[in-house]
Amino acid sequence: MSDVIQETIDRLLEAVNALSEPGPGFTRPSYSPLESAAHAIVEREALALGLEVWRDAALNLFARLPGRDRHAVPVYIGSHLDTVAMGGAYDGTAGVAGAMALVTAFVRNCETPPVDLIVTVTRAEESVWFPVSYAGSRGALGRLTSAEMHAPRSDTGRSLADHIRDEGGDPEKILAGSDLAPANFIELHIEQGPVLFDAGEPFALVSGVRGGLRYRNATIKGVWAHSGAAPRASRSDAVFALADLITAMDREWEAVLAAGHDLAVTFGRVDAATPEHAFAKVPGRVDFCVDLRSDDEAVLDRIDAFMAETIATIEAQRSVRFQMGTQSRSKPSALSQPLADRIAEAAHEIGYRPRRMLSGGGHDAAAFAQAGWSSTMVFLRNWNGSHNPDEAMDTKDLAAAVRAIHAAFADRQALPGTQRT
Ligand SMILES: [Zn+2]
Repeated sequence: MSDVIQETIDRLLEAVNALSEPGPGFTRPSYSPLESAAHAIVEREALALGLEVWRDAALNLFARLPGRDRHAVPVYIGSHLDTVAMGGAYDGTAGVAGAMALVTAFVRNCETPPVDLIVTVTRAEESVWFPVSYAGSRGALGRLTSAEMHAPRSDTGRSLADHIRDEGGDPEKILAGSDLAPANFIELHIEQGPVLFDAGEPFALVSGVRGGLRYRNATIKGVWAHSGAAPRASRSDAVFALADLITAMDREWEAVLAAGHDLAVTFGRVDAATPEHAFAKVPGRVDFCVDLRSDDEAVLDRIDAFMAETIATIEAQRSVRFQMGTQSRSKPSALSQPLADRIAEAAHEIGYRPRRMLSGGGHDAAAFAQAGWSSTMVFLRNWNGSHNPDEAMDTKDLAAAVRAIHAAFADRQALPGTQRT
């Protein structure tokens, strides 16, 4: 059995990653012909296994292996096949290959799972193409808005609706709502962080997806002045003002962590390189962005309030003006404990002790959780970071995680408490 799992994973990863715009790395834009071709590979493989295959109006792909109890709530399992530009070989693709390996193991062993297992390949997970989070899975769940349908793709400038139509989907039908009943969703995905690699652990279970609070386009306005002539007391120096904010936020972040809460503070872009800037000038302007993340919305509210107070103090002390611009938020998502417990228990039986951890990045599993599904994630050890051509993992880790999921569903009855009413 382990061989069929490993073989399927390696073969599918190779086949999907043969589809890419020219390198470096792998580029399959959301709702592009390349993404569609990658979906078609999985479709062919699923049909060859004898699975029932269909697509929804948002072109998410589903492949069903019927379970013993056709009335029980099914388990959807999968990930996405789009990538960022010049991305890696495993973000998304590993999870799809793992899901196909799982159903292949059932079919080849002539086993019937307790409930329907439905391989799920979502569309447009990478929000670098459209400024819309989880466009494909939220389309499946009937949670996309008509405003989001107008969002332009970053490379073509054409709308999400246009690109969905180009690939054969139906934006109007997506907006009319979904008939997908809440069920179970499992997403296999590389960790995209160093925790598992540093700990020497092959995979982990994710207890929640952090939410975010962002100011993508903030500016500090000071006053341009001569760097030699302007006395300290009369300056309105935008760069010093930002430095004050960054150091204050860093100290507060440390305090929040010390108090046992979850928080990440990132000033992802600090830009004092507009044409007005020069060596001999007191900076009159700096642009920046802030990305705050936590598993607890109250923590995000408190750090946002702290930042506002700090800004007021800095404005008074440094004679500058902060313009924070529009705030955007994503909600923290608690993932399903019972579903994770079930996989963890099976993992224990085959010799693994997967830890529970938070996901810092957003994933389709969060969209399913927010729509009321029992949703969980299995994180896979990877290294060399992510969203870059060097992204690396050992596919044996993925095979181990798939074996744990197989063990969780091979010999058991329907999930407790999920009988369809
Ligand atoms: Zn991903």
